[in-house]
Amino acid sequence: MSQSFHLVCPSCGGVNRVPIDKLQAGGKCGKCHAELIRTEPLNLDQAGFMHFMQRDELPMLVDFWASWCGPCQMMAPAFAQAAREMASEVRLAKVDTEANQALAAQFGIRSIPTLILFQGGRELGRISGALDKAQLITWTRQQLP
Ligand code: ZN
Repeated sequence: MSQSFHLVCPSCGGVNRVPIDKLQAGGKCGKCHAELIRTEPLNLDQAGFMHFMQRDELPMLVDFWASWCGPCQMMAPAFAQAAREMASEVRLAKVDTEANQALAAQFGIRSIPTLILFQGGRELGRISGALDKAQLITWTRQQLP
């Protein structure tokens, strides 16, 4: 019996079961046929974030950022490249702390950018300050169980 993962569809929010050996190939949503694995960062609001925390089983690296934050803007291209390189291992997502202040408060975000790696709603690690692509990937892989 092969193990499977639950993955939330980034388009419709539907929860899909995907066998682990199919994860590399991606897979499409059973409901809306969108790709379940994205190569670009997801933009999540509070409801979307909570849904992924509760139902999605891939690790998720969240960039808590704001549009006025210079270092956040500087890191954005590296973050997008890291999303492409780690697509089938880790989801990368962005939460705008201005639009989602309750979420930023819930996780005690005091400086931005702050990156938090989650899996199954659990925090695996966090780091503040802008990182380049290599640092993003290295740090993330170090936190994974
Ligand atoms: Zn879908």
